[in-house]
Amino acid sequence: MLESAIEVIETKKKPKDVDIAEAEVVVAVGRGASSEALRALAAELAELLGGVLACTRPMVEANIFDSKHQIGLSGRTVKPKLIFCLGISGAVQFAAGMRSSDCIVAINSDPAAPIFDVAHYCVRGDVGEILPRLIQKIKEGR
Ligand SMILES: Cc1cc2nc3c(=O)[nH]c(=O)nc-3n(C[C@H](O)[C@H](O)[C@H](O)COP(=O)(O)OP(=O)(O)OC[C@H]3O[C@@H](n4cnc5c(N)ncnc54)[C@H](O)[C@@H]3O)c2cc1C
Repeated sequence: MLESAIEVIETKKKPKDVDIAEAEVVVAVGRGASSEALRALAAELAELLGGVLACTRPMVEANIFDSKHQIGLSGRTVKPKLIFCLGISGAVQFAAGMRSSDCIVAINSDPAAPIFDVAHYCVRGDVGEILPRLIQKIKEGR
C-alpha cells in the first residue's frame, strides 16, 4: 500500500457564486451610491432582506463589482420579487435588464431620473439620508 505524504491541515468551503438572475430580492447600486459607506449600507439592506447585491455597468467598469453583478443589456437580466435601485439613473440599457421585476423601488435625488418611469415606488432624495432610515425601519419591524 502506498501512503500519501500530503497532510491536510485545513479545509475551507468554496464560497457559493452569487447568481443575481435567480435572486428573489436584489439591491442594485449605481454611481449615486458608489461610495464605500453607501455600498456597506446597501449590503446591510440586502442581508436584512435575504437578497443579493447587483450594480450598473459603470460600477463594473470602475472595478467596484465584478461583471457577474451587472444588470442590463450587456449584463444579466433579473426578475426578482423586489428590487431596490439606489442612485441609478435608469438608462435604457440598465432598465432592459430589470424592468420585468415584480416590485421596483427607486431612490434618486433627481426627480427627472428615468428610473422613476419604470419604478413602482419612487423615493426622491439622497440615498445617504434615506437608506439608514429604511434599514432602521426594517429592523424595528422585526
Ligand atoms: C452598448 C451599451 C451597453 C450598455 N449596457 C449596460 C448594462 O448592461 N447595464 C448598465 O447598467 N449600463 C449599461 N450601459 C451604460 C448605460 O447607458 C448607463 O451609462 C449606466 O446604466 C448608468 O449607470 P448609473 O445609473 O449607475 O450612473 P448615472 O447615469 O451616472 O446615474 C447616477 C444616478 O444617481 C443619482 N444620484 C447621484 N447622487 C445621488 C444621491 N446622493 N442620492 C440619490 N441619487 C443620487 C443621479 O441623480 C443619477 O440619476 C450600456 C451602455 C452602452 C452604450
